[in-house]
Parts: sequence; structure tokens; C-alpha cells
Amino acid sequence: MTKAKSKFYFPRTPLLVQIERRCSFADCGLRNQIGLTKAEAIEYRGFNCSQCERWNEDQLSRLETPDSWCADNDARTTN
Ligand SMILES: [Zn+2]
Repeated sequence: MTKAKSKFYFPRTPLLVQIERRCSFADCGLRNQIGLTKAEAIEYRGFNCSQCERWNEDQLSRLETPDSWCADNDARTTN
């Protein structure tokens, strides 16, 4: 046993997830870079295009969310 305790904490979970979504409107089609916190990612249902400001319905795929977030997500999604 060593006395020295590391005070450094390396979170295994990223704080933000970055996704890229193309605006679904044909006359726009802007690529939106969207950064979501964990809480936002759980509630994520779409985004407002930063160019035309129209609402794009969207979902996060499992592949886009870190495993640890998904586990939490499952616990909260009971319907
Ligand atoms: Zn747009």
C-alpha cells in the first residue's frame, strides 16, 4: 500500500458529443455542427439550422453517444 493518492481524476465520459447534421431543407442543406452535453443528448429531438433557422427533427444514433451515456439513457427511458 502506498500513501500517495492521486488526486487527478480522469473522467471516462466525454462532456460533450459533437455531431454533424445536414439541414434537411433542399434550399438550404447547411452542415450544422452541434455540440450536446449529456443532458442535451438525452433530450435531443432535433435542431434549429443555424442558417435558415428552421427546425429539423432528428435523433441521435447509439453510435454517436458514448457507451456510458447510453447506459444512463436506458435507465431513464421507460416507455
Ligand atoms: Zn437550413
